[in-house]
Amino acid sequence: MKLSFDVLSKDPGSSARSGLIHTAHGPVETPAFAPVASQGTVKGLTHAQVEDLGANLLLMNSYHLYLRPGVETIAGLGGLHAFTSWRKAILTDSGGFQIYSLSPLAKVKTEGVRFASHLDGTKVFLSPEDVVDIQLKLGSDICMALDYFLPYPASREKMKAAVETTSLWARRSRLHFEGRAAGQQLWGINQGSVDWDLRQKSIEDILEIGFDGYALGGLGLGEPKSELLETVERSCRLLPEDKPRYLMGMGYVADILEAVERGMDLFDCVLPTRNARNGTLFTSRGKLVINNQKYARDPRPLDEGCACFTCRNFSRAYLRHLYERQEITAAVLNTIHNLHYYLDIFREIRQSIPLRLFADLKRKILANQEEELP
Ligand SMILES: [Zn+2]
Repeated sequence: MKLSFDVLSKDPGSSARSGLIHTAHGPVETPAFAPVASQGTVKGLTHAQVEDLGANLLLMNSYHLYLRPGVETIAGLGGLHAFTSWRKAILTDSGGFQIYSLSPLAKVKTEGVRFASHLDGTKVFLSPEDVVDIQLKLGSDICMALDYFLPYPASREKMKAAVETTSLWARRSRLHFEGRAAGQQLWGINQGSVDWDLRQKSIEDILEIGFDGYALGGLGLGEPKSELLETVERSCRLLPEDKPRYLMGMGYVADILEAVERGMDLFDCVLPTRNARNGTLFTSRGKLVINNQKYARDPRPLDEGCACFTCRNFSRAYLRHLYERQEITAAVLNTIHNLHYYLDIFREIRQSIPLRLFADLKRKILANQEEELP
């Protein structure tokens, strides 16, 4: 079985590229967007709906699944694919993001991280090896090494220590993963925020260890946009051509386009799904807040240019009514639209690169965004 990455085409005018990540559960065309299915489900949708929308890869959260229903339970039921009945590729995060953000008292030591469950305060200790074992047992196609990131801004001294810990853990993760996985991949994460010396050191360390894919972690936490994009650009120059590059947790379409232009291949974010449940819809003209009174009698679809199930069948007035009445269907229909919007943009990006039309597409998408929809 081929578990690698192929670059299919490159944009002559930028670093954008299209490619294929090969996994044991099918290929993932890049640039790709992985919808977030924290608990093993994209909230509000069935897997069939998610597949119909064109997703080939879901991100599931090791941390949540580790706490409930538990790794042994899932492994006993045949792993995540069997347990959830999702047939395509699964990427699990290391759990680090949840540990550091949901458990403010998490204590990081050389051996690993000690934290209290956000559910009941139970004390848990996880080493980098434990985090690899958890994802191996879950049967993830793409496993992520445990990293250590700090909120922005952090002192240089602390950030330097976090980079060193991340490198140490990456090395241990890689050693532990070696020879254990049939059909599973391990990706490494680099840190260092927008401090280029630290980011560069982190990337060099992670590259020396060697992984199946490379992620930029600890970005999108409030850094100035110019520094963030500069970091993405410089990082992509250091990363090898023949491995996929993953920008973790970045979700605004404008940022995604900038990152694709600089050479990133994979993205994930809760933005389209969480916003859908909160009644904020993304359209080709900009954001639409469905609860707004002005939509109460509006017969138009959310987005007149959208071919999704929601837009083909329902008016803004009906969707506003469902949202306002807190009907479950509101979350379903809104999520279908927002995910369609995201996955469609990625489809367009992938098509534009071999046709040398990426720059035109980017300009078109950004130019049509309005502050306030009519
Ligand atoms: Zn739609």
